[in-house]
Amino acid sequence: ADKGAVEWKYTTCGYCSTGCAIEVGLNKDGKAVSARGVGDADVNRGKLCIKGIFEYELFESGGRGRVPLMRDRIHEPFREANWDQAMDKTASEIQRIQEAHGRDAFAIVSTGQIMTEEFYTLGKLARGVVGTNNYDGNTTLCMASAVSGYKRSFGSDGPPGCYDDFEHTDCLLAIGSNLPEQHPIIYWRMREAREKRPFPLIVVDPRVTMLAQNADMHLPISPGTDLVLLNSLAYVILEEGLQDEDYIRAHTTDFEAFKATVQDYDPLTASKLCGIDEDTIRNVARVYAKASSAMTIWTMGINQSTHGSDGVVAINNLNLITGNIGKPGGSSLSITGQCNAMGTREWSSCSGLPGYRALEKPQDRKDIAEFWGIDEDFFPEKRGLFMTDILPAIETGQIKGLWLIATNPMTSMPNTARIRKTLEKLDFLVVQDAYADVETNEYSHVFLPAAIWAEKEGVFTNTERRVNLIRNVMPPFGDSKPDFWIFNEMAKRIERDKKPNFPETTEQAFEEMKQLSKGRLLDISGMSYDKIEEKRGLQWPCRDGDETGSQRLYTDGVFQYPDGKAKLIPLPFVDNNERPDDEYPLWLNSGRVVEHFHTRTRTGKVGNQNKFSPTPYMEMNPDAAAEFGVEHGQYARLVSRRGDAVVLVQSTQRVPRNMIFVPFHYHECVNRVSLGLLDPHSRQPAYKQCAVRVEPI
Ligand code: SF4
Repeated sequence: ADKGAVEWKYTTCGYCSTGCAIEVGLNKDGKAVSARGVGDADVNRGKLCIKGIFEYELFESGGRGRVPLMRDRIHEPFREANWDQAMDKTASEIQRIQEAHGRDAFAIVSTGQIMTEEFYTLGKLARGVVGTNNYDGNTTLCMASAVSGYKRSFGSDGPPGCYDDFEHTDCLLAIGSNLPEQHPIIYWRMREAREKRPFPLIVVDPRVTMLAQNADMHLPISPGTDLVLLNSLAYVILEEGLQDEDYIRAHTTDFEAFKATVQDYDPLTASKLCGIDEDTIRNVARVYAKASSAMTIWTMGINQSTHGSDGVVAINNLNLITGNIGKPGGSSLSITGQCNAMGTREWSSCSGLPGYRALEKPQDRKDIAEFWGIDEDFFPEKRGLFMTDILPAIETGQIKGLWLIATNPMTSMPNTARIRKTLEKLDFLVVQDAYADVETNEYSHVFLPAAIWAEKEGVFTNTERRVNLIRNVMPPFGDSKPDFWIFNEMAKRIERDKKPNFPETTEQAFEEMKQLSKGRLLDISGMSYDKIEEKRGLQWPCRDGDETGSQRLYTDGVFQYPDGKAKLIPLPFVDNNERPDDEYPLWLNSGRVVEHFHTRTRTGKVGNQNKFSPTPYMEMNPDAAAEFGVEHGQYARLVSRRGDAVVLVQSTQRVPRNMIFVPFHYHECVNRVSLGLLDPHSRQPAYKQCAVRVEPI
């Protein structure tokens, strides 16, 4: 229903990475009263999930930050401040800490939620003005393994495929991805394509997820053993001669070393490690390799693991040996998490310099220094700490000050008790967020209220590299300001001999990014705000003069390594998780529910979403519930070596007897018990694998 809307404004959903085009309806008083999907947008074709439908309620949701807040010590109450006071205090603390302890003693951790132009501007501020090398994003918690895996296999980040691949594929392998709850509109695209032209759907997941219930084959794998299964699929393909020899010869290197390693993963040996029987492994390998085109999608089930990066590389290996990269229906498609996780990967400079440039490459440092008008040696020669290493560096005293932007580690980081002590140790914490009641703000000295989503203008990039536009639908709430404005104002206040120029509008920043993208893999020089809106999003590369964007990467088989070839990488499996034992006999798994997003900062305030899952719960197999003396509908204690949490029991066959599943969205819940060992390549935490027990209360 339009609920009295008299005007509709175009924008893009600000929750997940699907990238649905939305129109927000305003009534005659200019109040947002409704939302609808944009019918001619290729991504969502008029549809929205429950989060998008009620997203307009966010403009007036509870807990918003109205004015800047300040205090000298974190046990004192906040006092209201004006912007000059809050910004001056933050700038002076940054400079005081840097003068006393070095530039890297002040760290910045951002997000996947703000606009791409804001990421670019923050990168310019962090790398070109503040000059700290300890700058990262919370995407280290969700997408870092995908980034690392793409870089290792193809020589660059960048998902090669797109949603249109569902309409061409002859086989879909989904590993650790529960589309109906995580990315409902991508699920709908996949399901619609499969109804028109049926193809096998193979789901690998330890839990009977909603997607698994739709599968032709469900492989309930033992937690943390994806690499074993993927190596074994490659074993069968090579043993039975099902590989694409021509593609391997023309477009890859290191095949012999790869082949030698997979020899250790015959299906019998693999079945004992990963829990999938030998015949099923052989069947899946045959179905996948014999399909004229096949694609793999994955989400956090692969990424959030001690071998997340290796898991991504193993998926790429599978698709390289079967010739399934860069063709319709053939892809390694990482389904991203946050609405603009891609934008931060491309332009924030968290992992290097803008436009997929690396600090480690002298030419990249030189190019950006020249473009920004600063000295080349102001840049470090390799990237600094990841988010998951920045927080421990506070414990050791290496980092004294921290700026958190739209991220909430008090709920999102593993081992909540440790994070609390870590944040308490900071000399200075500034939290920049749309919500003043975000849990991490309890530990801040300065709070900067940020405008939300469609209270500002800019672009997001979605999972399939589609850049789409967020138009300004409403003015910022209270005295909150767009993140873009906050970064520009901070740049004015930090003293440096040479500083880059900071454009005044996001559209001007976008023009800078276009110049920096020319001739690169992520070329956006053929885009403009109006053209993006007219086309309902454009996929990069979209070169100057291109009418449309590009659906796929690597269609010519030329990759981003200097020799133009992709690497086949041998991946021996090392079992390095905390595993269940006599004291803690259950696996702990975590994931999303459809109505909530991340730490519920937003969705916990929207009535129609919060009423479905207002309380933390754990899925528990009925046999395990009986064994541990707890009952459906009762509260029980979930205990690990890190701590405990009180959670409602939901008895269900969706989880096996040796596993608990808990949605990760709730404060003081799953992350009180999680461990979060880190992947050595991506530094991403293994949220989905640790050992727990359950006790009755
Ligand atoms: Fe928004 Fe994602 Fe739902 Fe689309 S699927 S409406 S992008 S939350």
